[in-house]
Amino acid sequence: MITVLSGGVGAARLLRALSDVIDPSQLTAVVNVGDDLVLHGLTICPDLDTITYTLAGLNNDELGWGLRGETWRVMDELAVLGGEAWFRLGDRDLATHLYRSQRLSDGATKTEVAAELARRHGVTVRLLPVTDDPIATEFLTDAGRLTFQEYFVRHHHNVVVSSIDVVGAERARLSDDVRRALQDAGRVVIAPSNPLISIDPMLRIPGVHEILRERRDDVVAVSPIIQGAALKGPADRLLRELGHEVSTLGVVDFYEGLVGTWIIDEADAALAEAIRSRGVRVEVTTTVMADPVNAERLAKVVLS
Ligand code: GDP
Ligand code: CA
Repeated sequence: MITVLSGGVGAARLLRALSDVIDPSQLTAVVNVGDDLVLHGLTICPDLDTITYTLAGLNNDELGWGLRGETWRVMDELAVLGGEAWFRLGDRDLATHLYRSQRLSDGATKTEVAAELARRHGVTVRLLPVTDDPIATEFLTDAGRLTFQEYFVRHHHNVVVSSIDVVGAERARLSDDVRRALQDAGRVVIAPSNPLISIDPMLRIPGVHEILRERRDDVVAVSPIIQGAALKGPADRLLRELGHEVSTLGVVDFYEGLVGTWIIDEADAALAEAIRSRGVRVEVTTTVMADPVNAERLAKVVLS
């Protein structure tokens, strides 16, 4: 059994690659819910949905989120009505949020709903929201305090961030399933997701940091930064603004004490010695998963 601490796209790609190499039912994804939001009265879980859609082969590669072949009639009409149309939700995607919201109001947990949606899409990787309690990642910026999607979508992460808060994290409880998935897995993988806004919100929930620290030898992390840049999103910019080195080394230091083996991109091979000198193992391989051959090679290294 392998457990993968997961954000959105980077994690979804790694889980897909791992699923091609081992039986997907041997994989558990512990998924960030700090980006979750309620909009139009609907509960939306972007990272869970990105992973579900990607593993189901339904992801929209052009947009990088949502479903492929999507239509936008509801959003277009909402814009005509003067409603909140800045956070785009496709017509089919809306069905996911309607389904989840109804089930939550019936009394189901996010964990139960994630499993139901995965099952309906034929996804056999186990998807566990890191907690069923509400947590919300927020940003202090030069444009004021912003919710996650105000920062990410409305401002296109194009504002200066001075700090990140994860509201509710210290009070949030790990579900028993998540605790077991982290404690009992043969290996825990930290996906190449944004360290500051996808992985850190999970590390801030009591228990996660401690379990990883105890199991550090079994923890493998894939760097989301290659040659000082993120493949997508604001990871590089946020590292700089929050005072970290903008390179794989900055991420290594950010996860200090939690990781036994680092997998870094061959373009960063020159950093391997500096990382080893921090007392961890380093594997160098191709980590850009847009190429399926690379993705498979990376998956094999993660599992080796
Ligand atoms: P989000 O929730 O969709 O923003 O996604 P994540 O936090 O999972 O992913 C954003 C991070 O994933 C960025 O820092 C990217 O550099 C990284 N990423 C995305 N695809 C890949 C990939 O194929 N390889 C590696 N190494 N990193 C990736
Ligand atoms: Ca995300």
